[in-house]
Amino acid sequence: MNVFAVLDQAAARHGDRGAVFLGETQLHSWAQLRERVLRLATSLKSLGDRGTRIAVASENRPEIVELMFAIWAAECVFVPINYKLHPREMADILADSGATQVFASANIAGELRLDVPVAVIGGPDYDRWFDSAPASPPATDPAALAWLFYTSGTTGKSKGAMLSHRNLMAMTVAHLADFDDPDENCSLIHGAPMSHGSGLYIPPYVLRGARQVIPASAAFEPDEFLDLCGHHPGSSAFLAPTMVQRLIQTGRPRPENLKTVVYGGGPMYVDSLKKALDAYGPIFVQLYGQGEAPMTITGLRRHDHVVAIDTADDATLGSVGYPRSGVEVAVLGSGGLPAAVGEIGEIVCRGDVVMSGYWNNPTATAATLKDGWLHTGDMGSFDDRGYLTLRDRSKDVVISGGSNIYPREVEEALLEHPDVVEAGVVGAPDPDWGEVVVAFVVATNGAPVDPAALDAHLLERIARFKRPKRYEFIDALPKNSYGKVLKRELRDRLSS
Ligand code: AMP
Repeated sequence: MNVFAVLDQAAARHGDRGAVFLGETQLHSWAQLRERVLRLATSLKSLGDRGTRIAVASENRPEIVELMFAIWAAECVFVPINYKLHPREMADILADSGATQVFASANIAGELRLDVPVAVIGGPDYDRWFDSAPASPPATDPAALAWLFYTSGTTGKSKGAMLSHRNLMAMTVAHLADFDDPDENCSLIHGAPMSHGSGLYIPPYVLRGARQVIPASAAFEPDEFLDLCGHHPGSSAFLAPTMVQRLIQTGRPRPENLKTVVYGGGPMYVDSLKKALDAYGPIFVQLYGQGEAPMTITGLRRHDHVVAIDTADDATLGSVGYPRSGVEVAVLGSGGLPAAVGEIGEIVCRGDVVMSGYWNNPTATAATLKDGWLHTGDMGSFDDRGYLTLRDRSKDVVISGGSNIYPREVEEALLEHPDVVEAGVVGAPDPDWGEVVVAFVVATNGAPVDPAALDAHLLERIARFKRPKRYEFIDALPKNSYGKVLKRELRDRLSS
């Protein structure tokens, strides 16, 4: 099956209904979208054989939906590039993927200096791509490559996870089985980048004929986002945890139409989650995934949140839930054997969502896919109910005097202090201890907090040896374009 089929089916059932919206304005019905996609597919086929990589570098724009499905209908490979990347990083991805054509928004096209042809999305020549006769719907091997997903590169250079049509369909089915049940009276509001999480969720919502709504600002503006959620029926969205916090900070009530917010892709601290649940009620669902197993390793459903709040069960709220439908998850302890309950080890998973490897990178593939298991690089432990708690990426664990210290635990505890807005904990090299814990703290109103007060606060919550040896007060934590804290940069600050 080719993922194009989900659009074909939506167009058959809901042809006249609205499919793609820019803000509140309908651009295309499902039948119109299908027609545009198949015309564009004919033009794309002239660029090369099956498997040709075609890159899309743009802020969130409605055209991304037609480009994505046309690339699949042409049996080519979708290579989205995050619009916030530096032109040099974009050039690296284009070179690595070997893309033969780029579709870029006007802002980005002006910055790219490449040999690869660039078509400006929505530019004067864009409509010509739709002049050809419609292609026939494709018959594709489900194992064929559909999406090269470039990882966010928080721990090194970005790598292209190879996702097949089968991987994307497994993700689609798991999303509909576990998290959300949209129909043609529902809408997916694209707040997060469509090059990544929000774009991955397009297939499940298209399959059900739910509207694709792209904010006119092409960005995440909390007020605009809430207005759109109020305007469109049955709204769902994928948001990074930091975006959820920004919504809540508006102080606005939940729009009645906003039914589901899936958060994930980075840690949601318990304190922030409780505030979000308190403000908006039980609309939240958590995913734990990575580009290598897109959006789908474990999850916490809305009902789990409700029960956890009712029973004051912070352990569940601080967990990433349990394995998603169709996915096996294990934690490997010492010696690579399955860990005991409560024992921390590397999280591995397998199932139809797991990538086939990294593009052009057999060394990284061999280090990551072993005996059919994806080694996530994340550390975690299962409890006796089968709920997984994520600790940190293995590279972020601090080893001090032979003891493992998981930064997230220290960060969670620091965030409970009323004067702490953000906290990022890393290890600093130390001649006596190997590493010591250092906490970077963003304080309320920017005023430093008395380290002794923070120490006293932590001593009531965590073991003495986990306490930071030093606090560094900064204005904001360095984050990448997905809002993930760049621990590497924090560590670099300590060594510079
Ligand atoms: P990426 O492939 O760029 O989406 O990054 C995936 C990584 O983000 C995972 O390996 C985790 O380290 C982290 N991550 C994803 N989901 C969660 C979550 N729900 N809680 C904490 N960290 C997460």
